[in-house]
Amino acid sequence: MKKKLIAGNWKMNGSLSSNEVLIKQLLLGLSTPNCDVAVCVPSVFLGQAQALIQSSRLDLGAQDVSMYESGAFTGEVSPAMLKDFGVRYCIVGHSERRQYHFETDAQVAAKARSALAHGITPIVCVGETLAEREVGKTEEVVKRQLAAVIHINGHCISEIVVAYEPIWAIGTGVTASTGQAQQVHAVLRAQLKAATPHADQIRLLYGGSMNAANAGQLLAQPDIDGGLVGGASLKAQDFLSIIAAAH
Ligand code: PEP
Repeated sequence: MKKKLIAGNWKMNGSLSSNEVLIKQLLLGLSTPNCDVAVCVPSVFLGQAQALIQSSRLDLGAQDVSMYESGAFTGEVSPAMLKDFGVRYCIVGHSERRQYHFETDAQVAAKARSALAHGITPIVCVGETLAEREVGKTEEVVKRQLAAVIHINGHCISEIVVAYEPIWAIGTGVTASTGQAQQVHAVLRAQLKAATPHADQIRLLYGGSMNAANAGQLLAQPDIDGGLVGGASLKAQDFLSIIAAAH
């Protein structure tokens, strides 16, 4: 049976001193989690985080990866570099990258392929804006975003993680209702089923203001296999409570 996955997205937060405190608190509270747990840290902190979490139950994640292997791409981080630091997961296509860095569906799909080629599990984010939801386009948007990833990754699709993150719920304190989240997850599961016989093994995470109070209900939905957690992953007790709600 697949284990749930709780992944923290630190976004552009942290410092050498605060990271050390946070990771040490997490490790203290994480003796035997019932689920897989990862922290996706800014790339400059990968070495520090790798050293702190080695041989622990905490996995290391990154927040982005280049679609290229190496070369003249100033500022980019390649999948081989991430692998060198023991990175197991990499977020691709977070809405903040789609919105502020104009990443297209095709680029997100290429980044997922780049991660997979190096044995890194991409956490592929999909999600609609409030305006898209209000005009009934939620399904169309998330299916289009996921279709691009399915299209270029073929049978490797069974190796990915998908995170449904409604943009209107990210960092806003507004969470999708369990019904809204489950409904979209079921749509994504059906789309994956049409692409691979292993769709039931693919973990579908919910993200968007997940916290200690709402995690239990969200994680109890049949197609919600974990969470991608932003703000609450920066506070050890909150993140540990979400992890405790996942089994
Ligand atoms: C995120 O950044 O992926 C996220 C879900 O953020 P938050 O939990 O803060 O809404």
